[in-house]
Amino acid sequence: MGIKNITIVTLGSHSALQILKGAKDEGFKTAVVCTPDRKTLYSSYDNFIDDILLIDKWSDFPNLEKGLIKRNSIIIPHGSFVAYLGMDENKKMQVAYFGNKAVLDWEENRKMQREWMEKSGIKVPHKFRKGDKIDRSVIVKSYGAAGGKGYFTARNQKELDEKLKTFSEERFMVQEYVIGVPVYFHFFYSPLSKKVELMSVDKRYETNVDSLGRIPAKNQRGISIEPTFEVVANIPMAVRESMLAEAVAMADRVIDVSKRLIPPKGLFGPFCLETIITSSEEIYVIEISARIVAGTNFFINGSPYTYLLYKEPMSTGRRIAREIKNAIKQDQLKEVLD
Ligand code: AMP
Ligand code: AMP
Repeated sequence: MGIKNITIVTLGSHSALQILKGAKDEGFKTAVVCTPDRKTLYSSYDNFIDDILLIDKWSDFPNLEKGLIKRNSIIIPHGSFVAYLGMDENKKMQVAYFGNKAVLDWEENRKMQREWMEKSGIKVPHKFRKGDKIDRSVIVKSYGAAGGKGYFTARNQKELDEKLKTFSEERFMVQEYVIGVPVYFHFFYSPLSKKVELMSVDKRYETNVDSLGRIPAKNQRGISIEPTFEVVANIPMAVRESMLAEAVAMADRVIDVSKRLIPPKGLFGPFCLETIITSSEEIYVIEISARIVAGTNFFINGSPYTYLLYKEPMSTGRRIAREIKNAIKQDQLKEVLD
């Protein structure tokens, strides 16, 4: 099938603009699925979005599936898929889907994800089990991709017990709070070339934790400010080259191990290692995101790292479309779809 007959489709949110711009640059037809409140935004990009498929609410998405299959669509998942459609809907989807759905469980379930990270030989913050004595500062995280929403910190057992009394989430994890700077490394693994590519790096701008240093501690005393981690934006980074070496080696191991844990394909396509780097230059991985992350949105026109590999601007969204195109050329499309 020629690429001109294939439509690249995604949900209108998160990194849709990047994904569809990249698909158009690679020669595909494009469509966005969105709710009416977003029509104005997406129709203003009719230079690369061919069709807008409106649904009243996100849960209506399955009604579109037949039509999408008819027009040879390939869905590109991003952070909003599980958040808006739910895990089951996401897995049940009949339309061709870029990526390996079996990875979703390993991403969502924090226990499984931890096993994956430990087997990959990467440092992870200490995790406290139920009943363990809390002997350091901790961060409490709910399950699922939520962009840091609803996380909280506690300095000791007493504070943790106190705060858990009013915490409504049923499933959460209590993790050592690592003092250091957050650095998010974005990668792409090609099952065709069998290579991991470093795409870009960002840090998040999180409210209110990133603003606390603006007020001296003496002025904060007496007002009850709790650090929260809700992401608002992403800031690009160029990382010390000596640290890149380790990050790239970690990404390689994460891919290798994924092939054993989630056989036969393992993780492929875009992914992100979310790290905290300490003052002794230790890189702790707090999460593996097994899909395109919104931190790549800054790099629609490419990053310093993609410039090293490509002659043209290469966003992560465009890299996905390029992989699909290469797969078609090599008659390997099945390799990249689920
Ligand atoms: P949205 O469709 O923008 O609401 O995003 C879907 C999911 O991805 C939500 O759970 C968000 O918290 C998360 N998300 C959105 N934007 C970002 C971002 N810039 N960085 C990290 N996570 C994000
Ligand atoms: P996550 O949802 O795991 O990407 O975490 C969201 C944000 O919470 C990160 O960007 C960090 O600012 C913070 N965070 C998460 N885990 C830790 C940790 N173990 N130590 C320190 N900060 C953390």
